[in-house]
Amino acid sequence: MIQVKGYAAPQAKAPLAPFNFERREVGPFDVQIEIQYCGVCHSDIHQVRDEWGGSIFPMVPGHEIVGKVIKVGEKVTGFKAGDLAGVGCLVDSCRTCSSCVQGYEQYCEVHWVGTYNSVEMDMKTPTYGGYSNQIVVDESFVLSISDKLDLKRVAPLLCAGITTYSPLKEWKIGKGHKVGVLGLGGLGHMAVKLAASMGAEVTVLSTSPSKEKDAKDLGAHKFVVTKEEEQLKGVTNYFDFIIDTVSAEHDLNVYLNLLRLNGTMVLLGVPPESPKIQTFNLIAKRRRLAGSLIGGIKETQEMLDYCAEHNIMSDVEIVSMNQINEAYERMLKGDVHYRFVIDMATL
Ligand code: NAP
Ligand code: ZN
Ligand code: ZN
Repeated sequence: MIQVKGYAAPQAKAPLAPFNFERREVGPFDVQIEIQYCGVCHSDIHQVRDEWGGSIFPMVPGHEIVGKVIKVGEKVTGFKAGDLAGVGCLVDSCRTCSSCVQGYEQYCEVHWVGTYNSVEMDMKTPTYGGYSNQIVVDESFVLSISDKLDLKRVAPLLCAGITTYSPLKEWKIGKGHKVGVLGLGGLGHMAVKLAASMGAEVTVLSTSPSKEKDAKDLGAHKFVVTKEEEQLKGVTNYFDFIIDTVSAEHDLNVYLNLLRLNGTMVLLGVPPESPKIQTFNLIAKRRRLAGSLIGGIKETQEMLDYCAEHNIMSDVEIVSMNQINEAYERMLKGDVHYRFVIDMATL
């Protein structure tokens, strides 16, 4: 076994603390990666606090992983020692069901193996994530990273990037579309950059008036403070597409009314409480309410290549491993600009 250092939550709601553990030896199809940076996703907080139920402890969070390959198994063809590599939210799936065959491993009908807070396909070995110095992953679930981009700013693409890219592609968003991005945090700021790069008119819908300048710098054309009724009225029946990235309870009915005829709102944020919908807010304008979960491996690689080509990276604040509990507190207050990334050299 490989000895690994990391940070873990020993139990629900407890602060994270140093944790030593073991990972499997490098198998024939495995890639061993020395982790250089790991992004901090709000899903890490939800799971550490067991807000979705079923959390497995001790938990080593982290699914926005980038680093350098240090060893590969003898059957690995796509990576060699020294390559840059990334790992996102998925490290395995059944690979044979109709979802997997189509490249939608995140919707695997048997079991998708999350990078942490999950179990391997043997249904018993727990998985541990990227708040650690090394990880061993089957090459089919390892992503190639371009050396053209700043590595620490690439890490958040592995979750925040793909989670927002996937619905923009699925709904074929581009020139002529009016897109609303609800919540300007990690996912939200990537949604703004990506939707703007695809040619859409982008409006940030935020509870934080102080984020207006940043929103425009990120590429948004408009900024609406959602607590201001007059401002909301100005965008009623306005959007073709709304991406909801809010992590806390909020009234969806308010935002459904901002969709025009046939408009779609896609839920990405997963607040602990499920929303209540007024039926008329949907049927009166044939509006659609949808959801989307991260993205498959093929699409994640496509997104990384797209970002390398268009020079798109996350805006990050680098933190050391021992600042993680403080970073969580700041995220809970909406005080993140716009993704915390842990420098693993500080572990
Ligand atoms: P984040 O960086 O903390 O950003 C969330 C943003 O939501 C905040 O910056 C804030 O933006 C807004 N917000 C927070 N509390 C609010 C409230 N009470 N009312 C209205 N707005 C509020 O979080 P993130 O990492 O982007 O993650 C966002 C959500 O997506 C989380 O629930 C996470 O679990 C989920 N997620 C889902 C997927 C998926 O596959 N579907 C993948 C990754 C993450 P403003 O200050 O602009 O209002
Ligand atoms: Zn995430
Ligand atoms: Zn499957």
